[in-house]
Amino acid sequence: MRIAVVGSGYVGLVAGACFAELGHDVTLVDNDAAKIAALHKGEVPIHERFLPELLQRHRGSRLSFSGNLRQAALESAVIFIAVGTPPTEEGEADLSYVESVAREVAGAVNGGYKIVVEKSTVPVYTSTWVRKVMLLNGAQESSFDVASNPEFLREGTAVTDFLYPDRIVVGADNERCAAVLREIYRPMTDGSYYRGKNAVPGPDGVRVPPRLIVTSTKSAELIKHASNAFLAMKISFINAVASVCENVGADVSQVCEGIGTDSRIGPRFLSPGVGYGGSCFPKDLMAFRAVARECGYDFSLLDEVIRINEDMRQRFLRKVRNALWTLKGKRLAVLGLSFKGGTDDVRESPALCLVELLLKEGSQIVAYDPAATERAREVLGDRVTFAANPYEAAGGADALLVLTDWEEFAALDLDRLREQLRYPIVIDGRNLYNPEQMAAHGIHYYSIGRPPAAPKSQPANAGTAPGSH
Ligand code: NAD
Repeated sequence: MRIAVVGSGYVGLVAGACFAELGHDVTLVDNDAAKIAALHKGEVPIHERFLPELLQRHRGSRLSFSGNLRQAALESAVIFIAVGTPPTEEGEADLSYVESVAREVAGAVNGGYKIVVEKSTVPVYTSTWVRKVMLLNGAQESSFDVASNPEFLREGTAVTDFLYPDRIVVGADNERCAAVLREIYRPMTDGSYYRGKNAVPGPDGVRVPPRLIVTSTKSAELIKHASNAFLAMKISFINAVASVCENVGADVSQVCEGIGTDSRIGPRFLSPGVGYGGSCFPKDLMAFRAVARECGYDFSLLDEVIRINEDMRQRFLRKVRNALWTLKGKRLAVLGLSFKGGTDDVRESPALCLVELLLKEGSQIVAYDPAATERAREVLGDRVTFAANPYEAAGGADALLVLTDWEEFAALDLDRLREQLRYPIVIDGRNLYNPEQMAAHGIHYYSIGRPPAAPKSQPANAGTAPGSH
């Protein structure tokens, strides 16, 4: 099938490369000329596992790049909209990018039958608006349908999430439209893709083929917002439990094991830490809350989810203060700047937010991130020193703060790390380490929802606050 994907960001680029991988002819469109030029040159604009291989495999054959949306729409049977839907000042989704695509595509659908698919995360009723805008801009009623096909990929594992999803949701209001979308995903739903010898390997234990669920467009739009709100709620819930654990001296990792093994609850997203971030959860929660308000429902549970999340940053800051006493002039090593491990995305990153708060307190920050340094530098400039590796960041620091759950941080040489630090203090906002092990390596260790640990000879809460430089 000929497909155009409009917007070549984290979602569009991955979706486009994966559609090509499934055997479709794909044109990836973007109005950022520099991005299209970089893709033409063979560059990979984002850090995402398996993406370089897929772009390499299909570039110039099944995958092309273009800045000409109208032309791409004319040549395609299905047009996926994957542009950004950032929050407005009021917390609603800004749909102006979606609207501008709908306007431009309107003139390219007549003379056949095309489907415009919302891949971007959008509030309920967006499909109705897309349809209206297209009709106002010259599209003929019978020449197109608007469908919703929300994307559930996670940055860091985006390619495998796309190709090995728990389910595919298709919101279509008639069978003709649903049939076209079923056809696009057929290599996945009939299992033929997974039998190919060049298939991207799936995660351990994954079940294929995935189920494809057809709903109304409105239900599909709601499914995406409700899913993200539920996952964010799970994170805030366990963070609230972690705070109670700290107050009573319990261990949240034991509590997580106890509740996560209940099959009705499940272990995923029960990871206490400095809170969720990224380009999706914060904005989607606000947008969902705004949608609910607009349709007359006060979804105050979402207010609480957001409040708990914001509170986790303040709690972490207090934890740093409790470990170090004053922060002014302290040299702090920071591991992790991206909003989570496996990605270079720093949008709404809790790590960046904490770095800003610490800079405000007068601390000096030396930071290391395996992939997000360049993007973080665009935000932080020269207010922060960037190190080439975790040990360099730790050099002479009063404490080390872990702010992103990069896998490689969990495998650091703890003795080498301790030797680099001026004081052997680690404050872990992602619970990457075993407290006893840290203590055995001579480190004073503070984490989320677990009792602090200290080397044998020294109590956890005494004598750890170094003086400032
Ligand atoms: P992004 O900012 O990385 O990419 C958006 C791209 O769209 C940019 O390259 C931009 O230049 C391009 N663009 C904007 N207007 C355009 C236009 N008129 N014509 C052509 N290109 C245009 O955003 P993203 O992270 O890929 O997110 C896209 C959508 O997908 C959002 O609605 C988001 O909520 C949703 N989503 C994101 C994720 C994620 O993990 N990032 C996951 C699921 C869903």
